[in-house]
Amino acid sequence: SDHQLDYPSCPENMDWSNHYPFHKDHKIEFADIGCGYGGLLIALSTLFPSTLMMGMEIRTKVEDYVYERIKALRTQHSETNGYQNVSIMRMNAMKFLPNFFEKSQLSKIFFLFPDPHFKQRKHKARIISPTLLAEYAYVLKVGGILYTITDVKDLHLWMVKHLNNHPLFEKISDEECEIDPVVPHVRTATEEGKKVARNQGDKYLACYRRVEDPLSI
Ligand code: SAM
Repeated sequence: SDHQLDYPSCPENMDWSNHYPFHKDHKIEFADIGCGYGGLLIALSTLFPSTLMMGMEIRTKVEDYVYERIKALRTQHSETNGYQNVSIMRMNAMKFLPNFFEKSQLSKIFFLFPDPHFKQRKHKARIISPTLLAEYAYVLKVGGILYTITDVKDLHLWMVKHLNNHPLFEKISDEECEIDPVVPHVRTATEEGKKVARNQGDKYLACYRRVEDPLSI
């Protein structure tokens, strides 16, 4: 539950300096929603060394684990200031995301192997929904990319349906996905992705570009 979580009243009131002590400007560009054990952040950290990334996770124990993992990597790579661009925070991403990020702040937002919530009556707990897509569109800049991947076909179809119906997202073709350097990591870098691979499960990928509001052009 998230009843004891604190939220900033607006992004300007959020102090990120503890998260990224080596950076003066704390403009986060990538958000990994429900990041779990942090495999994607760790993989992307060295691929985009000057981009700030944040993992957002609701479970305290998982946050603690990722915090320690990043701390250890920072210590090991202190000579090169490695892993100073990634961090983790505990929050409920279904609430108040726009309190943390300004409009158009993010260039990438990730939903990797989100909880499926199989039962019909639990579908409203899914992390992709029309209401939440409006928030994700708000924090993503035009041209920014929303990545989803899951091993649950029903959830994949659900996410694609809602994203296809949303006027501010446009599906990226398979061909274009395959040349995105981030996509191999989306498939394989996270702990859940590795588990699915071990069990020889399917992985359904869907990536969307944030487009200009058709009503404003
Ligand atoms: N993305 C990771 C991976 O691929 O290994 C983790 C996948 S795991 C199945 C889903 C994660 O989402 C869990 O760690 C869970 O705690 C987190 N989560 C679920 N609801 C959330 C919410 N509302 N806000 C933030 N994190 C959430």
